[in-house]
Amino acid sequence: MTPFAFLTGLFFLAAAVLFVIGLHQMRTPRTARRGNLLSAGGMVTAVGGTLLYAIVSSNSNPFGWVALVAGVVIGGTFGVIRSRSVKMTDIPQLVSLFNAVGGGAAAAVAFADFLSRDLTGGLTPSVSVPVVLDIVIGSVSLSGSLIAAGKLQGLIPGQPIQFPGARIVNVIVVVIVVSAGALTVLQPTSWPLLLVVLVAALLFGILMVLPIGGADAPVVVSLLNALTGLAVAMAGFVIDNQAMIIAGALVGAAGTILTLQMAKAMNRSVLTIMLGGFGTGDSTAATTGASATSNVREVTADDVGLQLAYARHVIIVPGYGLAASQAQHEVAELAKLLTDHGIDVKYAIHPVAGRMPGHMNVLLAEANVPYSQMLQLDEANPAFDTCDVALVVGANDVTNPAARRTGNAVSGMPILDVDHAKSVVVIKRSMSPGYAGIPNELFSLPQTGMLFDDAKKALGDITVAVKQYVTT
Ligand code: NDP
Repeated sequence: MTPFAFLTGLFFLAAAVLFVIGLHQMRTPRTARRGNLLSAGGMVTAVGGTLLYAIVSSNSNPFGWVALVAGVVIGGTFGVIRSRSVKMTDIPQLVSLFNAVGGGAAAAVAFADFLSRDLTGGLTPSVSVPVVLDIVIGSVSLSGSLIAAGKLQGLIPGQPIQFPGARIVNVIVVVIVVSAGALTVLQPTSWPLLLVVLVAALLFGILMVLPIGGADAPVVVSLLNALTGLAVAMAGFVIDNQAMIIAGALVGAAGTILTLQMAKAMNRSVLTIMLGGFGTGDSTAATTGASATSNVREVTADDVGLQLAYARHVIIVPGYGLAASQAQHEVAELAKLLTDHGIDVKYAIHPVAGRMPGHMNVLLAEANVPYSQMLQLDEANPAFDTCDVALVVGANDVTNPAARRTGNAVSGMPILDVDHAKSVVVIKRSMSPGYAGIPNELFSLPQTGMLFDDAKKALGDITVAVKQYVTT
């Protein structure tokens, strides 16, 4: 081993250690920021090692350097500008786009590597198998993540998109991917066959994500993230780069664990979600919801202030609307005011509230909400039985009692049992449905009052009202 190869190996080892420590620190909001920085440091170290390798490698050519510098400048500039300007609520779409480019880049690496090889004597399976797997997984991740990002951004309808004969088309596409892939592994003699694998896998990614809708998007985004990790690990095998193998394996493993946990939180299996169809056949929920939501009771900030001032147990249920309105500081201020006056205040956190895993925890941590006040779903639900006021702030699907019935977009999803509270106040701007696109029967229950306003403004007004009642 040359000294340079040894040094490059050391860079990759240091990067791997930083990835592992960084990932470990991301397990709690308290250390997550540091974990993110450490992981970014690991990536810089890995890129440094790769540059060192490129400098000393006899294979490096001028075109390679131009492509490398152009990639770093264009990709780096886009990444920095987009990450700095993105709104907190748009992060899931950005993550999905990052997934897409990660998967696409991994597939491109394998394709380029295949083109650069001398195929006259064929390839050993240790090369051809990772090449094919990388192209399949990376392409599925690329097209699937682009569709998911389009759905999250509202460019593509979030509802399941299905067409007659979709299942048969899926089967045909899978057969093409498998047979063309197997032929490439057995007789890797020409690139057009590999191109067929790539195009069919891209098509499969689109067909896989289009029918997934309702409330299942979080699981799909997480699964695609895991797939990108696997594709990167495969690319690492193809070009014999240890840093890519380690980083890809970590992302693949973490993404898989998260996918399984999210699916469990939604009370569904990953396979059922992938087969799609939730959110169709929704007529029961739509009719029940339509009639049920026609007689809602509207309340004012002053009414809510009075109720809260005389409550003993209050549970705040944050949802996507809290994030959209950036009202985390206002909700924390209101909670502190109530706590200071001896009222017990807790937050009930649903695992898929918001638009990304852990969204509500991150948001509330930003406003310094004590962890002891945050209840996860299992702890929160029994607490609603003794709760005087459940204050729902921009949450919708995660409180929808329709989830307890079959045949609608949120069926089977565990919900926060907000309707068990003595009194419910829902802050939102209108009667619009949530992400799953179905009406919420909670809004028309006799104990529910609707405060139609932007969350930030409403919480500010409620705080003013509470002050008026607790000081007199
Ligand atoms: P929902 O999307 O169900 O509902 C959010 C509600 O917030 C809307 O009904 C909206 O009503 C209201 N809202 C929006 N802006 C404001 C504002 N400025 N002020 C006040 N209210 C506002 O949110 P939930 O958190 O209850 O549920 C999350 C949903 O998103 C689930 O279906 C989940 O599966 C899905 N999802 C979750 C992801 C995750 O990883 N957590 C990722 C992708 C999707 P109005 O317009 O009337 O104000």
